[in-house]
Amino acid sequence: MSDLDDGPTMDECVLAMGQVHSFLHGELDEETCNHIRQHLMTCERCLDVYDVESLITVLIRRCSGEATASISLRERVSYLHVTVE
Ligand SMILES: [Zn+2]
Repeated sequence: MSDLDDGPTMDECVLAMGQVHSFLHGELDEETCNHIRQHLMTCERCLDVYDVESLITVLIRRCSGEATASISLRERVSYLHVTVE
């Protein structure tokens, strides 16, 4: 348990990632937002995922209504692959 002293635990990551969607959609209270934001800023592992998630959300919002279908699974998966690899 000494090799992760300087970083968040996996439990914190799971918690943060589980709330990221609500966070991006502004559905969380300020305290929770700050907690997640703070975690994301100190956790590279989550930051990678967060970048992709926020990008996808912005894209979907911009296209909401008409072109949502064009930003479908295929494009999301390609974004995710960029991050994973
Ligand atoms: Zn994390």
